[in-house]
Amino acid sequence: MSSEGGINNGCSRSDHEVFDVAVVGGGVVGCAVARRFVLEGARVALLEKGEDILSGASKANSAILHTGFDAPVGSLELECVQAGYKEYMEIFKDFDLPILKTSAFVVAWTQEQLARLPSIESQAHQNNVDNVHIVTSDTLLKREPNLSRSALGAVSIPGEFVIDPWSSPLSYLTQAVLNGAEVRFGYGVSSGQFDGETWVLKSATKKDISARFVINCAGLYGDQLDEALLGRSEFSIKPRKGQFVVYDKAASALLNAIILPVPTERTKGIVLTRTIFGNLLLGPTAEEQDDRALASVSKKEVELLKNQAEAMVPCLKGMPVTATYAGLRPASESKEYRVFEYEQKNWITAGGIRSTGLTASLGLAAHIYKQYSKMANFLVPLTSVKTPKMPNLAEHKQRDWMQKGYEEIVCHCEMVTKREIDNAFASVIPARDLSGLKRRTRATMGRCQSFYCSARLAELTKDRFIDDLSVDVSGEEHE
Ligand SMILES: Cc1cc2nc3c(=O)[nH]c(=O)nc-3n(C[C@H](O)[C@H](O)[C@H](O)COP(=O)(O)OP(=O)(O)OC[C@H]3O[C@@H](n4cnc5c(N)ncnc54)[C@H](O)[C@@H]3O)c2cc1C
Repeated sequence: MSSEGGINNGCSRSDHEVFDVAVVGGGVVGCAVARRFVLEGARVALLEKGEDILSGASKANSAILHTGFDAPVGSLELECVQAGYKEYMEIFKDFDLPILKTSAFVVAWTQEQLARLPSIESQAHQNNVDNVHIVTSDTLLKREPNLSRSALGAVSIPGEFVIDPWSSPLSYLTQAVLNGAEVRFGYGVSSGQFDGETWVLKSATKKDISARFVINCAGLYGDQLDEALLGRSEFSIKPRKGQFVVYDKAASALLNAIILPVPTERTKGIVLTRTIFGNLLLGPTAEEQDDRALASVSKKEVELLKNQAEAMVPCLKGMPVTATYAGLRPASESKEYRVFEYEQKNWITAGGIRSTGLTASLGLAAHIYKQYSKMANFLVPLTSVKTPKMPNLAEHKQRDWMQKGYEEIVCHCEMVTKREIDNAFASVIPARDLSGLKRRTRATMGRCQSFYCSARLAELTKDRFIDDLSVDVSGEEHE
């Protein structure tokens, strides 16, 4: 094991190096796990089959920082959500990450739902979210005057907030890289061998990677990775699609808090929430499907969603829609997180992290590290840690165009500057394609959906996207 943290401790960083830990998957869970292990002193390689991080489930979520008020009592999910929430609140200022302190209401629209509010309040208290309380419809409508008068009452959850779904995982992995982790994109782990001490991981197109320990964070493909390399999987992924509607920025003035429905056994249900980017988000649906990659949007579901939203907030009628999109939750046959340790194989699987992974990721990473320490040699935590400052994408904080020297506004819908585009290419983990550029700057995600800025963006990005996937990200050049 490395004793000098994630920094190269004298060994050459050749392809023959044996990493302490290989993290497979660069979703929010993998990024948080890579960061945790680097901070604890491991030499880490993160292997991602996509061209960028957030190529799977983590690219499309509701971005709510959950308190865990409704998580199953005593569950691993609850433990990780609450630990993740706590750690996020401890670190977000250091990374310059944004947080929108919205609070939330679980609103009852029928007598049956109203009767369920006391049990939601009581579960929250059992989960130690003590400030959760029932409010009358009068109180609710004073706080949310644009809600339909048919709201019967609500549970108030003051601690539910909205965060930046993209900058947070990017900041976790950036910190990992700054402190010595290496990232290989286009590295789809397809097979591997374990000799009792070391794994040799193989991909169809890239050189083998050796690591003493593997953490499977492969999201929608976690079960398949276990089957391919361990010969068995304790769980099966059952992709669950969530479709979303993004209303124009004007709609975000219609609500203060996140409006949640009374949940069902299967899903948290359709949410209305402001986004960190200044829009109003509606969704997600919960649709089972076999396909692990196809996240299509259907006109029918979008209309159903909009009808539900207009019933809750009547002024939404006629409000323009900026975009629609869908994400796939890596759900499994069970509601629980599917975390398994294989001591004889130096392997931990973090699977089935369905609906709460953005919040839980930091807590899950700490849990996985705890499990790892029971199985492997101890590591020596870093004593000096580099922390990146992330560019601000949040609408409620000062944006780049508000500061001198930005040269040019490139995307006028989202007010993205040329300086932000340049910085996205110069960053520790640079944008490698247009989606990655969007997630680092907001370019193209506005009302015109790139109609007006695509020509200028094409000029500015010419020859700058890294289509050679053999170019890897390593902390060395940034040290
Ligand atoms: C509709 C929806 C709404 C959500 N809302 C919220 C919310 O409001 N709050 C919240 O906290 N959470 C939310 N979540 C949950 C959160 O987004 C997920 O829990 C999380 O994205 C799962 O992350 P992951 O890292 O496990 O998986 P993924 O993001 O899927 O990451 C796995 C990665 O592994 C890569 N990979 C797969 N196989 C291989 C391989 N063989 N080799 C190399 N790489 C591989 C994939 O390309 C992918 O990038 C939501 C999720 C969805 C879909």
